[in-house]
Amino acid sequence: MARKATALADVLTEIVNSTVMRVNFGVFYELKCEECGKTIKRRVGSFTREDGIVCRACRATYDVIAESNGQARLRMRTSSYTCPQCQARNTVGTHRVEPGVTLKCPGCHHRVKVALTLVPEQEAGTGGSSDPAAA
Ligand SMILES: [Zn+2]
Ligand SMILES: [Zn+2]
Repeated sequence: MARKATALADVLTEIVNSTVMRVNFGVFYELKCEECGKTIKRRVGSFTREDGIVCRACRATYDVIAESNGQARLRMRTSSYTCPQCQARNTVGTHRVEPGVTLKCPGCHHRVKVALTLVPEQEAGTGGSSDPAAA
């Protein structure tokens, strides 16, 4: 169960809970970007659920998680990773997780660099035949 070495590979996918914003919407969603403070205004229906609402200034992405009675709840898309230095679980806006970008741990200031990792298809999938040639 417990892996000693921290795999940076689990940086990329996990979605963690972060602040939920409430905004009013009629024709537009209007919100203030948590990352850069700019006002984001998007016409309702001008974006898909997958795309989310993207800040044009810093590319932070907000997902609409609920809508009712003219109120919407939005949440910034975030990823998390474990700091290899102090084992803290850090949260970072997914828009910042790109190959070559350096992330700094807010706790111990250790820096990690984001890299893409390729995983053999058999390991990633259900793996029909186990492969003894590995390692
Ligand atoms: Zn922004
Ligand atoms: Zn740390």
